[in-house]
Amino acid sequence: MQQQVEILPPLTRLSEDEALFRDSVYEFADREIRPLVREMDEHQKIPRELIDKLFEMGVMGIEIPEAFGGTGATFFHSVLAVESISRVDPSVGVLVDVQNTLVVNAINRWGNDDVKRRYLSRLANGTVGAYALSEAGSGSDAFALATRAADKGDEFVLSGRKLWITNGNEADIFIVFANLNPDAGYRGITAFLVERGMAGFTVGKKEDKLGIRASSTCELLLEDCRVPRANVLGEVGKGYKVAIETLNEGRIGIGAQMIGLAQGALDHTIKYTKERKQFGKPIADFQGVQFQIARAATALEAARLLVYNSARLRDAGQPFLKEAAMCKVFSSEVAESVASLAVNLYGGYGFVKDYPVEKLFRDAKIGQIYEGTSNLQLQTIAKQILG
Ligand SMILES: Cc1cc2nc3c(=O)[nH]c(=O)nc-3n(C[C@H](O)[C@H](O)[C@H](O)COP(=O)(O)OP(=O)(O)OC[C@H]3O[C@@H](n4cnc5c(N)ncnc54)[C@H](O)[C@@H]3O)c2cc1C
Repeated sequence: MQQQVEILPPLTRLSEDEALFRDSVYEFADREIRPLVREMDEHQKIPRELIDKLFEMGVMGIEIPEAFGGTGATFFHSVLAVESISRVDPSVGVLVDVQNTLVVNAINRWGNDDVKRRYLSRLANGTVGAYALSEAGSGSDAFALATRAADKGDEFVLSGRKLWITNGNEADIFIVFANLNPDAGYRGITAFLVERGMAGFTVGKKEDKLGIRASSTCELLLEDCRVPRANVLGEVGKGYKVAIETLNEGRIGIGAQMIGLAQGALDHTIKYTKERKQFGKPIADFQGVQFQIARAATALEAARLLVYNSARLRDAGQPFLKEAAMCKVFSSEVAESVASLAVNLYGGYGFVKDYPVEKLFRDAKIGQIYEGTSNLQLQTIAKQILG
């Protein structure tokens, strides 16, 4: 007896709209970002004019509903945008990533109507956001944060220091986590919407980094910073949920940044090895080189499948915790190894700043550190599979 078998689309299949979106964001990045990459890395700055163009392009409010001026698209679209931009510059990639997968995502999910109305329209129209959880003493152990909040009725008073905050220099809106009741442990953690210009809030020192140098990473100082009660994001004492659940999704965005970076390194490598001649022929003609490139492309394809599948699971409302951790740990390793191969195959030219791959090699390292180090991802995966 013949059985009816349902043939499902390939895992890599994008809808027409998704493919168009990915291609148009890549064309934008190639045209508007690529000419600035070296200068931005050297000056450690993303020009405001470029940020304005990212807003015009619609990649700074991807999941913001159209009613608030956003693109009204999906988390998967955010992943495609971060990938396409990071293929050209992972520094600009992380600016777009934090805006969409952390800040907008958290407000979309946890903001009440008033918070959404006040903040989403700004985030869709020119205002950059940042997400401030880490501190000098609390990174992997994020809930050990020492920033305190005191309840003063109509407002809360925040005191403490945040460290490593991406978009610190560009942002006007900061999601800041502080503990209202340290005796309750992590159950005292609350998320607040803090604005540049609020009394007692300053952006401090910017870090001088190994990679993603154009992306600002700053200290934030909260000195008796008064935040209106209406600026609590989610519920008082439930900030740990906001933090953990947003980061669970955010790390898929870092996976996207890493596959974009790896694709960028591979693009450069393919082009260069076809041009560079040694022993009278292009080095891409040597089987030893071909096999290295073939392995890199294979690893990248596997990483992309993990990233896309995690994003699809998230959009489908299905469990994705294990898959998201796997996609981050794997894609950041692939990015490092593909960028390293790119440096090797460029030879001496791979080691100097006149060529693009040494930067990608430096940029790749961050994927294994932020939004949960690789060890912390492995811990999550182990918990899921070992119980
Ligand atoms: C460029 C950059 C941008 C960042 N952007 C942001 C941001 O926008 N917002 C924000 O809140 N934070 C941000 N961070 C902070 C980042 O998330 C932390 O650096 C990261 O979580 C690691 O924390 P840590 O640096 O304190 O390292 P630690 O937690 O001290 O870890 C040090 C080492 O110990 C290992 N380790 C720790 N605990 C365990 C364990 N239980 N088991 C096994 N190994 C363990 C880690 O894997 C790591 O290798 C950023 C960091 C950087 C460098």
